[in-house]
This record gives sequence, C-alpha cells and structure tokens, in this order.
Amino acid sequence: MAKIIDGKLVAAQVKEQIAQEVKTFGKEVGLAVVIVGDNPASRVYVNSKKKDCEEVGIKSYEYALPQNTTQQELLDLVVKLNNDKNVDGILVQLPLPKQLDEKEILNAINPEKDVDAFHPVNVGKIMIGDYSFLPCTPAGVMELIHSAGVEVKGKHCVVIGRSNIVGKPMAMLLLHEHGTVTICHSRTQNISEITKQADILVAAVGIEKFVTADMVKDGAVVIDVGMNKDSEGKLCGDVDYLPVSEKASFITPVPGGVGPMTRAMLLKNTLTAAKLSNDLKEGERLGDTI
Ligand code: NAP
Repeated sequence: MAKIIDGKLVAAQVKEQIAQEVKTFGKEVGLAVVIVGDNPASRVYVNSKKKDCEEVGIKSYEYALPQNTTQQELLDLVVKLNNDKNVDGILVQLPLPKQLDEKEILNAINPEKDVDAFHPVNVGKIMIGDYSFLPCTPAGVMELIHSAGVEVKGKHCVVIGRSNIVGKPMAMLLLHEHGTVTICHSRTQNISEITKQADILVAAVGIEKFVTADMVKDGAVVIDVGMNKDSEGKLCGDVDYLPVSEKASFITPVPGGVGPMTRAMLLKNTLTAAKLSNDLKEGERLGDTI
C-alpha cells in the first residue's frame, strides 16, 4: 500500500517558513492580484490566494475590473503595477474575458514580478535551468517528491500532459534533476506501455480516473495533478486512487495533494520577487553613490 504524500502538511511547512522570512524581511512584501469579470471559479481562486497571503503576512492588493475592461485599460494597470514599489509580485487571474489578448497581457508583466512564471523570459530561463521563478504547480510537485525523500536522478519519469503551465515545465524540472523523461499527450500511442515503465508518474490530464492500476508499475511514485469533478460534483484527480495506491510506493491524494502546494508556491514566488526587487534597489543605491 502506497504512502500518502500529504500536500496539506508539506504546504503548511512551506508556509511556516515563508511566514518567518516575511516577518524578518525588513519591508512589507506585496502581491497584486488582478481579476477581470465575474467568473465564479476565478473569484474562488482569488479569494483563496488573498487568504493565503494573509496567513503568511504578505500584503495582497486586489484589482477587480469589470467584464467589459478593454485591452488598453488592463495593459495600463499592468504597467502601473510594474512601477509600483509596494508591489513585488503581479498575478493576473486567468482565464480573461474573450475580448482580451491573454498573451499580450502576460507578456507585459515585468518578468521580475511574474510570480506565475508565465512570461516568455521566465519560460526560457526554466528551459536553460537558470531561473528565479518556477510555475507554481510543477514547483509544488517537485517539493512533494523531495518531501517523500524520492531521488529523481536516473529514474524514468513519465509526465502525462504537455500544457505550458503544467506538463512541459514539469518535464523540464524532472530533467534538471537528472530524470529520464517521457512526455505523453493525447496523440501518444500505447500510453499504458509507457506509463508502466515509469518510476515516477505525473498525471496532468484533466480526466477523472485516467490513470488506472494496470497503467502503473509496482512501487511507482504517482503524483496526481488533476483537478476534476466526479459525477457527484466532488473534486477528484486523474488517478484511480484506491486501486493505484495498492501498487504505488507513494501517491498524492486529491484533494490534499498538489493543490495546496500550488498555492504555497505562489507565496514562495512572491517572496522571491521581493528579494529580487530588494537586490535591485540596493544596486540602484550603490550606483547612485558612485
Ligand atoms: P490542459 O491544458 O487541458 O492539458 C491537458 C493535457 O492532457 C494536454 O497536453 C493533453 O494532450 C493531455 N491529454 C488530454 N487527453 C489525453 C488523453 N486521452 N491521453 C493522453 N493525454 C491527454 O490542462 P492543464 O492546465 O495542464 O491541467 C491538467 C489538469 O491539472 C487539469 O485537471 C487541471 O485542472 C489540473 N491542474 C491542477 C492544478 C493544481 O494546483 N492541482 C494546477 C493546474 C492544473 P494534448 O496536448 O495532445 O491536447
């Protein structure tokens, strides 16, 4: 029977550490959260992000814009936040209403305040392994793997899913830790033949019970990123949890696995952004005196 990797517990430990650092940081750490329109799911996410900030002593600034906001209005706000010294991190809650060009908005965020790590500069830095921020979900998965004492080096890691926010950066982080990585997606043939070879299997598909026990090798580490609703409307992952936990060595539950870690990583990135901006300011002062 698999050991459960308790995401809530690991997230609480990470948050405790962040709270300590924020307390002694020497200046207020600030996160601007921008929400456009009235998407109920986005509202829930934004509220929980604000609550998380409060818990660790990060000041959150909410900018709630109406559904009919124009591209220029949102760009103007991003520029204003880029220049606001109280704002260390900027998060624009996705999805945006249809009239807005998401890509242009994300590209307008100062990469040093890009706590979601979606800006092409940060994406590129992840590729070459020289990064300040990691996207929250893959970063959270790596923390969970480390918390279980699992070494990635030399392992066959299979990631199901190749999205820009989860699958691709996930694969890259496993590669940076010397895993041998295979990425599967909707056009992959004989997927279970591949997943059965995985020492570490990460499922980021978005389909309930996609990963069944016959797709998993005995003793595999199984990380379930999926966040789906079952027929009763309850949150569930991509993994057929009970049968798979009979075979795996470690498994993350849903809820209580990757989700809480994703939230904790946003706080970590915000603190990192504050550290970056602090260094810059020190640099500026130094330059001023020369
Ligand atoms: P996404 O953009 O929809 O990507 C899903 C990926 O799964 C795609 O690469 C797709 O392949 C692949 N896929 C779909 N059907 C497949 C099939 N039958 N066989 C193999 N691969 C298949 O989703 P995402 O944003 O990466 O998110 C994935 C899941 O993680 C969702 O349930 C989402 O809610 C969840 N999530 C959770 C967190 C968290 O904090 N826990 C954070 C982010 C996302 P193609 O590229 O070929 O279409």
